Amino acid sequence: MVISMNNYLQKAYCFDGTVRIYAAITTEICQKAQNIHHLWPTSCAALGRCLTIAAIMSSTYKSQEHLTIKVCGDGPIGQITIEATDGIVRGFVHNPGVYLSYNNGKLNVADAVGRNGYIEVIKDLSMRQPFSSTVELISGEIAEDFTYYFAKSEQIPSAVGLGVLFDTESKVKAAGGFLVQIMPGCKEETITKLENKLAKMPSCSSLIEKGYSALEIINEITDGDYEILEKKELKYECPCSKERFRRGLVSLGKEEIKEILSVDKKASIQCNFCKKNYEFNEQDLQNIIDELTSKERNI
Ligand code: ZN
Repeated sequence: MVISMNNYLQKAYCFDGTVRIYAAITTEICQKAQNIHHLWPTSCAALGRCLTIAAIMSSTYKSQEHLTIKVCGDGPIGQITIEATDGIVRGFVHNPGVYLSYNNGKLNVADAVGRNGYIEVIKDLSMRQPFSSTVELISGEIAEDFTYYFAKSEQIPSAVGLGVLFDTESKVKAAGGFLVQIMPGCKEETITKLENKLAKMPSCSSLIEKGYSALEIINEITDGDYEILEKKELKYECPCSKERFRRGLVSLGKEEIKEILSVDKKASIQCNFCKKNYEFNEQDLQNIIDELTSKERNI
């Protein structure tokens, strides 16, 4: 059976295993994010780049860590929040309506995100204490910022390419990215060769627009010196449910719920990641109060 994957990640070992490359096609993920959040191009480019690197990162760990990534710059977009587990991502931006471009028409992601601020990455493996790491933003362009993150926080010399292209109607038409990681023992001449290649290569989103597959992007970066490893599907998906938001309400405590019940008689909660609305009516709220009351009695 052939399973068609529209959005996927291709992993490869290159130059005798001394370089690892992950290349991802994320056009549909970025289209879905744009539709859910009604993103203007610059907000969409910033969120799309973050979703792409999060999808790649979450696929690089062996133990299926749950990742939360926050990009907090001082630009008009505000905080970008991404969650990712094993190639499944979701995210949102504080301000979806940013459209900033340079004089040549290229989207100005750096000023929209802001050049001052930080990236925080929280890795949560259910059995252990979550691990959090923060590095400052160095450009606001996202790819360079994550290159710096990998070098500083994970001590892996890396190169990151990320891109989202739009059609004349400002809709996403191609998106994707790559992560090149240098392994111990990599020859100096290999690094120089890669640096020269990456400096001259067209942007990965323009290659994807031309129809390049992830493997063809890896081929382009390495001039064919690679060994194919796994390929896996990537998706934008939100696992939210009424039960999850109910647990959130429960955690507010009895007094708070009583207050909501007497003032508003209902609670409406919208999921930040997928914009789905959840309604809790009088009866739902009363049930939560009853549940909290019976817990109190049992203590
Ligand atoms: Zn949701």
